[in-house]
Amino acid sequence: MNKSMLMLLCSALAIQSSVAADTSVTSAPTSKPLMNKALAANPLLAASTLAYEYPAFDQIRNEHYAPAFAEGMRLHLAEINAIANNTAKPTFDNTVVALERAGQSLNRVSTIFFNQIATNTNPTLESLSTDLAPKLSAHQDVILMNAKLFKRINAIISQRDKLKLDAESNRLLDRYYTDFVRAGAKLSDSDKAKLKAINAQLASLGTKFSQNVLKETNASAVIVEHKEQLKGLSEGEINTAAAAAKAKGLDGKYLIPLMNTSGQPYLSSLEDRAVRQRLQEASVNRGSHGGDFDNRDTALQLARLRAERAQLLGYPNYAAYGLEDETAKTTTAVNKMLSELAPAAVANAKNEAAELQKIIDANHGDFKLAAWDWAYYTEQLRTAKYAFDDTQLRPYFELDSVLQNGVFFAAHQLYGISFKERKDLPVYHPSVRVFEVFDADGKSMALFIADMYARDSKRGGAWMNSYVEQSTLFNKKPVIANHLNIPQPPKGEPTLLTADEVKTAFHEFGHALHGLFSQVHYPRFSGTNVPRDFVEYPSQVNEMWATWPEVLKNYAKHYKTGEVIPQALVDKITASNKFNQGFATTEYLAASLLDQRWHQLTPAQIPSDAIAFEKAVLKEAGVDFAPVPPRYRSTYFSHIFGGGYSAGYYAYLWSEVLDADTVEWFKENGGLTRKNGDWFRQQLLSRGGSIDPMESFRNFRGRDPKIDPLLLRRGLK
Ligand SMILES: [Zn+2]
Repeated sequence: MNKSMLMLLCSALAIQSSVAADTSVTSAPTSKPLMNKALAANPLLAASTLAYEYPAFDQIRNEHYAPAFAEGMRLHLAEINAIANNTAKPTFDNTVVALERAGQSLNRVSTIFFNQIATNTNPTLESLSTDLAPKLSAHQDVILMNAKLFKRINAIISQRDKLKLDAESNRLLDRYYTDFVRAGAKLSDSDKAKLKAINAQLASLGTKFSQNVLKETNASAVIVEHKEQLKGLSEGEINTAAAAAKAKGLDGKYLIPLMNTSGQPYLSSLEDRAVRQRLQEASVNRGSHGGDFDNRDTALQLARLRAERAQLLGYPNYAAYGLEDETAKTTTAVNKMLSELAPAAVANAKNEAAELQKIIDANHGDFKLAAWDWAYYTEQLRTAKYAFDDTQLRPYFELDSVLQNGVFFAAHQLYGISFKERKDLPVYHPSVRVFEVFDADGKSMALFIADMYARDSKRGGAWMNSYVEQSTLFNKKPVIANHLNIPQPPKGEPTLLTADEVKTAFHEFGHALHGLFSQVHYPRFSGTNVPRDFVEYPSQVNEMWATWPEVLKNYAKHYKTGEVIPQALVDKITASNKFNQGFATTEYLAASLLDQRWHQLTPAQIPSDAIAFEKAVLKEAGVDFAPVPPRYRSTYFSHIFGGGYSAGYYAYLWSEVLDADTVEWFKENGGLTRKNGDWFRQQLLSRGGSIDPMESFRNFRGRDPKIDPLLLRRGLK
């Protein structure tokens, strides 16, 4: 599998974590109760009566959200005030646990809403989202800057030695204290007011940035006039492009939609260099060429406000603030990793470029390798070196088989869990599937939602989120969803995945396992509620099973003949694993460096031209190699400006250190066995954030992580 699959957008996951975690949120309290007939009938305001409290998607309508948010915020605030104004002396139960219990209605409506705007949005929800962002931010501030509440938490902290709390409760106490301090609880009243104003602006701008990216990506799809310009694509891909054009009223033409990243999938097969150039340029110019969805100013404003926010809270810059709460802890640690790896990665990419140039020259191309040529000639080089290409693999990667005989099968071998489709539960889009998950002992344990196809109403990328989080406090079992963006084939044709898409399916299911196996008391620590630079670790580990021979042979069967993928082809895939790593690592590091530089600025250092700044950063960091643009450019880098990875995009590589070391552990211990799976589940996956994540790693691995397996894997050693 040639391309690295590390950088998958998990924005919904981040939204989910932040909402479910501290959640709090309200505009000004409404004085009179809003409960009336309409509210009583609002499906978002009561726990769903369906199994596992699975959302009643068939009953939820656009008009239910706004009143449910208003009522949810009102109820939450009433609960918060009752805790803050309690005349009884502060105890862990009447304060910290009470906070953890508060806001369930709001949490429910937020969870469903933010999942729906990511997966199945419409203009009404987008406009509501714009309206809600500052209100939710203000609601959160009202709670986290509540002086009485903070005083109670302080009082409990000061007597903690006498409380004899269990370890998870102790951690919860710390977590709430930290959340309050980081949200400005210690600031003066005037600084609190400033912070609230900044938070509201940031919330609105972040929403605007994401909405612009989605609209701009849809608007930037490339339209091709003639079929011969699509030479190199398969008949099925051409049919898909024709159908996509037709759906937009462009009968007889062809439409190539854009994916999130700078690189676009069809660049590897389109023979027409001019079309490749158009596709690449449409992609990298997103958000920076004027028009309604230009994001240059939005990015600048977000960077400036974040810098101001960090200074107000006593940090030199936003990254310092953000990283303090991650396992990396400091900008020094992150800068060190990025700057140490960049030169070797770029040197590898330049060697790869030289090989590609040789092919161009041998074919009398008479041009210099450009960004839009990279994937195309890499595919040729791979064919020459390893004698296979992606089109040979796809007939073996039929979606349902990948999911059930691959992803589910690997989980069954490792953890003993099994899956049964539930067609009785309502879905928000006809292509969405729901599975009930059963534990090794046959007991029902969770629901898993598989939402695999791309559509205009869905954000790009791939991510996991939870609809219901496991906790014993609320006696809840998880409802977890995975989202991919696989192009919908024309009617009647099979969905054949690329090697990258297969790997993505395994990756996202790794996140899902983190949620499904959660075994914690407090929802604050459930599943993926761990530091951002740790959360990509279990998902990356799960990628290893995509090419594990026993798994591969179980799912990779030719969709027409049922023939198992030939061993010779499997061997070639394995042999090509390190192929094109210079490119993959460089484009990733370039994006990570952009993220850090944007967020290590003081307010006075904010530039006036986003694109010029980006250029200067890449040059100064030594990653300005034109054939390899950053995986995301600033104006469509939703992870950092729209989602939850601001100053955190480095997290994928940071997590990969743990991943590569864990892959070694599985290999040392016999690979795909129940014994290995159960140990990983028990020591790591089930713990969520209930213990220090690095401690759970050490419990699992028996020592600190080593970086060597990562360096070897990426050809950096
Ligand atoms: Zn991920």
